[in-house]
Amino acid sequence: MSRTVLVTGATGYIARHIIRRLLDRGHTVVGTTRDASRDAEMRAALEPVLADRSSLERYRTVSLDLLRYNGWDSAMEGVDTLIHTASPFPISSPKNADDVVRPAVDGTLRALRAAQAAGIANVVLTSSSVAVTETSDHQDIYDETCWTDPQKTGLSPYALSKTLAERAAWEFVSTEATGMRLSVINPTFVLGAPLGSDFGTSIKVIERLMRGTDPMLPRFGFACCDVGDVAEAHVRAMDRSEAAGRRHIIYDRFMWLEEIASVIRDAAPSARPARRVAPDVLMRLVGVFDPAVRGIVPQLGKITRADNSRMREALGLEPRDTRESVAETARWLTDRKAA
Ligand code: NAP
Repeated sequence: MSRTVLVTGATGYIARHIIRRLLDRGHTVVGTTRDASRDAEMRAALEPVLADRSSLERYRTVSLDLLRYNGWDSAMEGVDTLIHTASPFPISSPKNADDVVRPAVDGTLRALRAAQAAGIANVVLTSSSVAVTETSDHQDIYDETCWTDPQKTGLSPYALSKTLAERAAWEFVSTEATGMRLSVINPTFVLGAPLGSDFGTSIKVIERLMRGTDPMLPRFGFACCDVGDVAEAHVRAMDRSEAAGRRHIIYDRFMWLEEIASVIRDAAPSARPARRVAPDVLMRLVGVFDPAVRGIVPQLGKITRADNSRMREALGLEPRDTRESVAETARWLTDRKAA
């Protein structure tokens, strides 16, 4: 069945991959951005990767802001499915948590209310594994029953924003008589070649590693997944009955920065990621002055693993090996001389 899908945050790293897949499957897409003049940039990024370039005729960009009322109702006209990806994902923590929490939570509720008013019954929300894994007690393996504790000491504003936004979405569909079908995708750290030169925070982390800006690597790592798997998960979640009313962690493996750096070195020999691992005590000290480091201090030395059986069983997705995604990202950045 061909759908008309509104994708918020269309200019984003993940959203571009989702839109590509939607267009390839014959769907019509309305992409939202705060700056509609980015339509040309979107078309230029999508055109070379589409199975059929003429499918761009089924794409249009509209201007919407998560913090403003204007435009939501008209954007939703004729739409039958909402994929809500837009949310701030800053590389370093803002001083004021509200800078990320408000657009995440108010934006999610604004999108859901507009969808309800437009009679849209099918919603896929991009949450994050950070809404899952910051539980009060450490777990060996996290699954979809786990929820981040919003009161946890040292919780980043970003993790708080994603947790409260996802909670608000579940509450909205359960308490309001919406008749809405909600599926939630909880990606871990997303890697893989971007579409177009404006890439998000996760790719900037690889770029920073490749430049060797940091003389040492913190004892820090990520639960990782591939951007193609994340995009495919959103598209499958629209239709699969097993995905309705459920969260889905997208996860392949945990990788220490040291391991990511080693994959980068093999894939892109001109890159200069640091080799030495910094003692935790040094990172704590640096974190006092550097907000980008401060955010990772509570995670030093911690391994985060997740159960991906729901991704495999409900969505039918076998995860791509994220060592390949790291290598692909490193080659992509080298080819474009971004790193
Ligand atoms: P991204 O490239 O930064 O894209 C996010 C998009 O959100 C931006 O393109 C921006 O669009 C839009 N946005 C931000 N603030 C907005 C606001 N106030 N109003 C309207 N739109 C706003 O990030 P991404 O990596 O693709 O992430 C997309 C989603 O996946 C987010 O919800 C993020 O939390 C989630 N996620 C990402 C990862 C990861 O590793 N990348 C992992 C787990 C979950 P405009 O600037 O064009 O308006």
